[in-house]
Order: sequence, then structure tokens, then C-alpha cells
Amino acid sequence: MARSAAGVWAGYGLAVLIPLFLLLSALHIDRLQLSNAGMQVRHAVEASAGPIRARLEAEISARIALADSLGAFIVTLPDADSGQFSLFSESLLHRRNGVRSLQLAPQGRLTFVYPMAGNEAAVGHDLLNDPERATAVRRAIAERRTIMAGPYQLLQGGLGAVARKPIFIPGRDGPEFWGLAVVVLDVPPLLAEAGLTNPAPDRLRLALRGRDGEPAADAVFFGDAAIFDEDPILAPVAVGNGSWQMAVVPTAGWPRDWPGRRPFLLLVAVGAALAAGLGIALARQAAKLHRVVEAACASEALYHEMFLTNAAIKLLIDPDAGIVVDANDAAVAYYGYPREALLGMPVSRINTLSAEAILQEMADARANRRGFFRFTHRMASGALREVEVYSGPVTRDGRLLLHSIIHDVTERVRLEDELRRSNAELEQFAYAASHDLREPLRMVSSFVALVIRRYGPQLDDAGRELLGFAEDGAKRMDRMIVDLLEYSRVGRLERPMQRWPLGELIAAAVHPLAMVAVEAKAVIDVASDLPEVIVNRDEVVRALSNLIGNAVKYHRPEVPPQVAISARRDGDRVVVSVSDNGIGIGPDYFDRIFLLFQRLHSRDQYPGTGIGLALVKKVVERHGGKVWVESEGENRGATFYVSLPAG
Ligand code: ADP
Repeated sequence: MARSAAGVWAGYGLAVLIPLFLLLSALHIDRLQLSNAGMQVRHAVEASAGPIRARLEAEISARIALADSLGAFIVTLPDADSGQFSLFSESLLHRRNGVRSLQLAPQGRLTFVYPMAGNEAAVGHDLLNDPERATAVRRAIAERRTIMAGPYQLLQGGLGAVARKPIFIPGRDGPEFWGLAVVVLDVPPLLAEAGLTNPAPDRLRLALRGRDGEPAADAVFFGDAAIFDEDPILAPVAVGNGSWQMAVVPTAGWPRDWPGRRPFLLLVAVGAALAAGLGIALARQAAKLHRVVEAACASEALYHEMFLTNAAIKLLIDPDAGIVVDANDAAVAYYGYPREALLGMPVSRINTLSAEAILQEMADARANRRGFFRFTHRMASGALREVEVYSGPVTRDGRLLLHSIIHDVTERVRLEDELRRSNAELEQFAYAASHDLREPLRMVSSFVALVIRRYGPQLDDAGRELLGFAEDGAKRMDRMIVDLLEYSRVGRLERPMQRWPLGELIAAAVHPLAMVAVEAKAVIDVASDLPEVIVNRDEVVRALSNLIGNAVKYHRPEVPPQVAISARRDGDRVVVSVSDNGIGIGPDYFDRIFLLFQRLHSRDQYPGTGIGLALVKKVVERHGGKVWVESEGENRGATFYVSLPAG
């Protein structure tokens, strides 16, 4: 069971793990491929950007180098005039663009400027006392090297950058500061020369930043500043003794895709879905198997619980072979055989029926025609026990068997037999006694009557009264014997139950009461539309007659009896009610009045034998019904109910 459950988990595990593994691997591969593609492009971009940067550096350094030439000129000709300077400068700038002007500033004061046209304003400017320029100038002097300023917008217009070289000439105590050589660079032509514009490089976007030889972030002077935020290739551009920074990205942007990416991802997705489906299918199969296994195990456990260890006595029987296949602990204890002896034992050793009869009974149980049997079973000790057997077909390991539950009813059967016998004896006795008693009683009463007739006139009043008592007693005794006889007759003869209209039975019951009813001025009201009942006619008529007779008899003095008879259907029963307006009954007597000879009143008040209601009870119970009484109490009337089988 654990193994099959593991299969289910394995299946679900596969359904989740394989797709997860596939997706994670795919993501990893995708990332690798993307970075690979990115690296290739970066490589290509770097390769394209390299020459541009190299040319830019070359163009700039070539122009900054003009400051060295100016330095060499002044060292050679310390007393040169502006004519000589112009001539020298003209030769330096011959066929060279990208330079706005060349200048010399002895002791920091701009003195020689070439070309002069357009730069007149600069002449005489004291660089060391210019707050905007003094710092850079002093740095160049202190560090004895060319310092780049800018690029910035030149006074003369356009983007320019200025390279200043401090010039030292030999003096008595070593080199002495002479002044500055200045090269004003015209930046756009330089960028064009380096291949950054006109034409712009194919498939690349570039930007440059830098101020005073440092690549400051806010000093983008060429291209789109945003390029610096696009993960660009960054390359330093050496300018003088400082550097600018060039940023390059591909015009198409960095790759977000790699060739074959879509089919790859599609393949992975399909693969993951397939794996998930496969896993789920596997899990389902495993779950099915698990259920089957579990059901098998459960049925085993159930068998154990319902059969083997059950407290009821149980046998499993093979109806074809007629042998016991299994017996539970209770059966082993009951029959007194060891279990091994019971298994395989022919049923005929237990059941006292003939082998053929047993087979016939088992065939009935097997076909589900009958499930309940009464048998006599023989124990290991040889004792015979009466049993009730509930037997039904079951399938076990593919075999059709009989599952039998055995109830020992020996004691019950014994009591029932005893009761039946004693009842029969009693009835026989009552019948015989009442029948035979009447004979001598009749003799007594006829002789008393004879004595009264013949010797009455000779007797005195007291003698006649005594004989009257004797006659009365004999009559009453006769009445009692007749009633008792009737009572003992109920159920004695198996008379058939038949369908009768209740109205007809009531009419028959009222008939013998006609005289009494008239005498008592009774009103007997019978409901119309009464149902049919299935009863023994004579018995039920007698019972009803007793009830109606009582209703008339037990009326209040001076209050004429009013009797109402009706019926209602209650399931498969008809409940007949007889109600009166008579003396009523206290609740303490509701049960007692149905017992034989039980009366609540003296004979002087109300004549009677105390047998009537006992007879009603016997009749009704013989019909499977009940009789009961309801009364609000003394002088509030009573209602008797009897339930009878409905028609
Ligand atoms: P009896 O021959 O005395 O009428 P029953 O068995 O018929 O004997 O009745 C038993 C007792 O139940 C009666 O003595 C009487 O006291 C009481 N009883 C029966 N029917 C009624 C009734 N309709 N109203 C009041 N009491 C009744």
C-alpha cells in the first residue's frame, strides 16, 4: 500500500519537478545565450569604436604638440617679434584645421596671437589674474606640463578646448619660467576628422564627456548624454595629460534576443507541458492502482472485523461442496470444535437435516431466494441446539460462498413451546371446566326453582328470601360460566379472517343491545362512511358488543346514555372508538379494567362479571391490535379504542 502511495507521489513529483527543472534550465540557457549574444555585440562595438578613439587621440595630440613647437620657437628666438611669430605660426597651421589660434603669453600676459583677425580682444589678457583661468594656469606652471581646459563655448563662438603649456628657458640658476604657449582647439572639425561625424559611424551611437582633462559626468559635449546610461562601452580618450570619456552603444541597442530563442522557448514550454501531463497521467495511474490496492487491503481488514473477530457466530460455507470454508472465533467457541476441525467440515455434521435437504436449503440461500432458516445444529459435544440462521451469498476470492450468521434460540424455543403447551392446557381446562360446571349448576338452580314453586307457600318470608338469594347466585354463576366459556373460546378455532364493512359489524354488535338501550333511553350514534376491516366476524362483533353494552350500562343516574361510534384509518389499521357520556374511569384503572374478573363497581350498582373487557382485549390482540381507554375522569364519560387490521 505504501509502495502504491509512493507511486502517486512520484507521479505528482514528476508532474511538478520535471517541468520546473526544464523551465529553470531553459531560463539559465536563455540567460547564457543572451549574455553570449551581448558579448559578441559588445565585442563588435568595441572593435568598431577602437579606431575612432585612436584617431581622435591622434588628432588631438597632434594639435597639442603645436604648443611644444611654440615653446621650441621661443627658446630659440627669445626676442622674436610678432611678425616672426605670425610667420612661424602660419607655417605650423599650414593645411591644418581644428586649431582656432596659437598664442604666446610671456609671464601669463597674452602678447602674440595668430591669426589676429577676430582674436584682437584677447591681446593683453593677463591669464594669471583671470579668476576663471588662473587656477588651471597655475596648475600647469606648478606641474610643468600641458594642461587641457574645456571643452567649452569659446568667446569667439563654437566649441573649443585650450591646451596651455608652461615654457621654461635656461637661466643662470637653471630653467626659468618664461610664459605660456597656448593652443586653442576647434573641437567639431577634430571630431569630424576622427570619424565621429560626417559621416557618423555605421550602426554606432557615440557620446563624449570631459572637462579640463577629467571625464566629469555632467560634461557631455558630444552626442546624447543618455548613452552613458545605456550600459555603453566606455573608452578613455587621452587628451594632453588628462582624458575624456567616450561612450559607445550599438544603434540597434544591446541584444534582447538571440537567434533561435523563440523556437527554443516554445520547445521548452511544450516539453514542460508534456512532462507535466505525463507526470499527472502517471500519478493518476498510480492513484488508481493505489485505490485498488487499498480497497483490497481494506476489504481484508473489513473481513477481519466483520467476520473473524465479530461477536456474532459466523460461518462461511461453500454451498456447492456443502462444507464450512471459514469459521470465526465465536463459532469455534459455540460449536466446540477447534478451528482447524471446523474448516472443511461437511455442513451435514452440524445440521441435523438430511444431506439432500441441506443442499436444497443452501441452493435457496445461494440464489437469494431465502435468507432466513430455522435449523437444529449439533455441537461437538453431541448436544442439539435450536438455531436461526441468516444466510446470504458473498463473493470471496472469486468464489461464491454463503455468509451465515447463527443465532442460538434454544431457550426461546423451549419457552415458546412451554407457553404454547400451558396455554393450550389452560384453555382446555377453562373450556372443560365452564362447560362441565354448567351441568351441576343447572341442577342446583332448577331444584331451587322447584323448591320455591312447590314449598314456597309453606315457607315464611325469611325462608323465601334465602331461597331467592340461592336462585340469584346460581343465575349469576351461570352468567359467569357462559362469559368464561365465551372468553376461552376466543381463538380456539382457526376461523378465517375476512373483509367486512365495519358498519355491518357494528350493526350486528348493537342488535342484541336493543332492549337494554330502549330501557335506558340510550342514543347510539354510529358514524356513516366507515371503512372495511379484515377480521374474524363473530369475535369482533362480540367484542364491539361488549364495548357498546358497557357504554350504555355505565351511565350516570338520571342521565340517559349517549354513545358515539366512529372509526379512523391509521396506516394499515382502523381505530374504532366507542365513546359515552357515562360515569367515566379514573386513570389509575385504565389498565386494570382489562384484566379478567376486574370490576370497579358492586353488582348492586352495575351488574356484570368482569369478563367483558378481558374478552375485548383477547379478541383485539388476536387480530394484532390494541385496546385502550381514555377518560377525563369520574362522570366525564369514557372512550374505548380498538385497532383492527384495515381492509
Ligand atoms: P363488567 O362485566 O363488570 O362490565 P367489564 O370487563 O366489561 O366487566 O368491565 C370491567 C369494569 O370496567 C367494569 O366493572 C366497570 O367498572 C369498568 N367499565 C367498563 N366500561 C366502562 C364504561 N363505559 N364507563 C365506565 N366504566 C366502565
